[in-house]
Amino acid sequence: MAGQETFPPPFKTLLAKSELDARIAELGAEITRDYKEMGEDLVLIAVLKGSVIFMADLCRQINLPLSMDFMGIASYGDDTKSSGVVQITSDLSKSIKGKHVLIVEDIIDTGLTAHYLFDNLKTRNPASLKLCSLLHKPERTEREVQIDYLGFSVPNKFVVGYGLDIAQKYRNLDFIGYVEE
Ligand code: 5GP
Repeated sequence: MAGQETFPPPFKTLLAKSELDARIAELGAEITRDYKEMGEDLVLIAVLKGSVIFMADLCRQINLPLSMDFMGIASYGDDTKSSGVVQITSDLSKSIKGKHVLIVEDIIDTGLTAHYLFDNLKTRNPASLKLCSLLHKPERTEREVQIDYLGFSVPNKFVVGYGLDIAQKYRNLDFIGYVEE
């Protein structure tokens, strides 16, 4: 049909659905083991919108009672580069004071966003604060952040799919791809 794009677009596959599923099952098992004693005080916090797909799959691999909350943030910069200046556009719905908080991120690129988020949430006095990220681009690090649970280290390519977008599109791909330059 005229005007209709082919779907999925011709991205190269970096991580297939089967690889994502397998690694997320391992992360879920590891998190379950680590947080077993903490019971109902575990709160997963996902950053909108990129982390939502990962959050949905990860939480179903964690065999513990837990709650979820979401935070909207806007980074000043263009679509492909973070500036580190971050604005909260939508805050958590509940206090995290005294809770065991696990931040769920899609990708740590420069580390600036995660660094801001970590500092911000720490001031709210959670019982503990850890970071889980599906992807990490070590070559791009500007600010070191401790990633307690990491899915995959990836090369310095702009990746897309499984929550990650290009101009708000392609978040619904079930694999992680990249555009070959
Ligand atoms: P950072 O502050 O670590 O540089 O960037 C974090 C945010 O930038 C991510 O949460 C994500 O929204 C965006 N980002 C960084 N690298 C990529 C990428 O390769 N692809 C996409 N789609 N977004 C990215």
